[in-house]
Amino acid sequence: MKFKLNKKNTLFLPKSHISDDLISKESFKYLKSLRKVIKDKKLENKPCEEIVGVLFDYKIKYITGDSCGGYCDIENKTIALNIEHYDIDDKQRFLHELGHTIQNEIGLFDIKENKLLSHKVKIEQETESMSYYLFDMIYTKDIDKKHNLLFDSYFSIEDFVWLKNWYRHYNIENDLIIKIND
Ligand SMILES: [Zn+2]
Repeated sequence: MKFKLNKKNTLFLPKSHISDDLISKESFKYLKSLRKVIKDKKLENKPCEEIVGVLFDYKIKYITGDSCGGYCDIENKTIALNIEHYDIDDKQRFLHELGHTIQNEIGLFDIKENKLLSHKVKIEQETESMSYYLFDMIYTKDIDKKHNLLFDSYFSIEDFVWLKNWYRHYNIENDLIIKIND
């Protein structure tokens, strides 16, 4: 498969990995308030079920076989984590989906309203960047491990192609990738 990026629409993309610039003001504000709640409710280092249950009244569901590592199901208030992809020692997938839950709380996880592929990528990159901060807030025992982790989902063109396919039922407007064979 051959594809390349439509350069006009990729100015917002960072050169690599996560960045504070990818986190909106609203999300930063929410993260700050969450830090206090996590402390007050003593959620540090607790299992993910307890964290999402207390914070958002969400449930965790473990899945297998899907091509994705996990997803955030807002309608059913559920975070799905693929146990075939999920490494219990790194917490990245859970934190990524937790980031989507936060985006939903502040109205940024508008996956059905905004149909641009570039917007989907922005949402993914924001949650990945938020994961970095969420790690600090929650996994205080593992904090030394954080710097060995790569918070790098959805920063490559292969990721964008994957995302486009993931949203194939949503009539996504592809403003990012040109020359793609579906
Ligand atoms: Zn995501």
